[in-house]
Amino acid sequence: YVPPLYTGPTANEVLKKRKEFLSPSTYYFYEKPVNLVHGKMQYVFDDDGHRYLDAFGGIATVGCGHCHPDVVKAVINQTKNLQHSTVLYLNHAIADFAEALASKLPGDLKVVFFTNSGTEANELAVTMARLYTGCHDIISLRNAYHGNEAGTMAATALCNWKFNLVQSGVHHAMNPDPYRGIFGSDGEMYAKDVQDLIQFGTCGHVAAFISEAIQGVAGIVELAPGYLPAVYSIIRNAGGLCIADEVQTGFARTGSHFWGFEVHGVVPDIVTMAKGIGNGIPLGAVVTTPEIAEVLTHRTYFNTFGGNPVCTAAGLAILRVIEKEKLQENAHVVGSYLKQRLNALKAKHETIGDVRGRGLMLGVELVTDRRRKTPAKVETLHLMEQMKDMGLLIGKGGYYENVLRITPPLCFSKEDAGRFIQHIYH
Ligand code: PLP
Repeated sequence: YVPPLYTGPTANEVLKKRKEFLSPSTYYFYEKPVNLVHGKMQYVFDDDGHRYLDAFGGIATVGCGHCHPDVVKAVINQTKNLQHSTVLYLNHAIADFAEALASKLPGDLKVVFFTNSGTEANELAVTMARLYTGCHDIISLRNAYHGNEAGTMAATALCNWKFNLVQSGVHHAMNPDPYRGIFGSDGEMYAKDVQDLIQFGTCGHVAAFISEAIQGVAGIVELAPGYLPAVYSIIRNAGGLCIADEVQTGFARTGSHFWGFEVHGVVPDIVTMAKGIGNGIPLGAVVTTPEIAEVLTHRTYFNTFGGNPVCTAAGLAILRVIEKEKLQENAHVVGSYLKQRLNALKAKHETIGDVRGRGLMLGVELVTDRRRKTPAKVETLHLMEQMKDMGLLIGKGGYYENVLRITPPLCFSKEDAGRFIQHIYH
């Protein structure tokens, strides 16, 4: 495949503009940043026509592959017909997608609110829980990332993502992290901390518990087995709702299941989503039960762009592609294969402290001392730069920024996985 000839500004020209005109909070991974100008399924291309295997997927977002023809077609068709209307009017693209989305969720989870992003979805979920329960206290996990506005930044518990703003009513529970947590893989022991938080930090009632099924920004941390079922029961006994943040784990990313919460055998009261829902088109959603959604009945709540027909037309096309191309099954098969190969590397290299995750949401934690789990932060950056120069893009994360995050498009093949292994430790 040869990408179309690019004649736009060079990397240096883009970098100069970016430094001058974009907020300093928008940083880039690499010392020598890449200027991406074209995408095709699991590949992206720079201004020189160099091809990169995209193992990050635009931060776990591009599930169907870059510029998937069916998604492009849906966007073009809808753009030609009606670009925007707002939810104040009827439009089938919005209603059709809401119906299709509801059909992917279990039980009574069928009322959809569209947002523009994951942050907005979580802000709304927390607000709804507070309105529904009449309580203010929220419990989230240490190391969690839920977004970057007032409520979601409060629910986030990673210090470089917080701005020392007032923490309104959010309590952070011990992270059930099997690699670094003090109770190892004993989910029920970590759950006791939630009980204690409720007992000692609240009046005994809470509005909600919010968590990811696998923490993404935290460095692909799988919650210890048994944790979520135990906590859901504690929270419900305290009158609270359980919110599943599926922004990264939804839309087949975990391979074994369509939603991350299904991995843990729980059914949440509110589910939030973004990223994979739009394959890169800005879209998010909150899905809940009719009973909980009722809290918004006599309140005017909507936003201008949430549920934009172009975005929802893309969403519908994406659901069809996931099904037609069996992307969930592929994520399961290729992800299991890649994890097995990564574990084989770990057996050979002392610098790999941990390999974890499921489906095509995998993490490799790099350390300089395996016994002490000393984070290898500088080495992680160095390795990423080298991989980029060899034509492979990958993410990083974790509290110590020493975890390689592997979240490619779900069409990633076994050959891609093999190539990835060759490049990670060459
Ligand atoms: N929740 C999780 C689990 C995320 O990973 C993110 C973003 O990375 C968000 C929420 C926020 O989503 P957005 O960046 O679309 O606002």
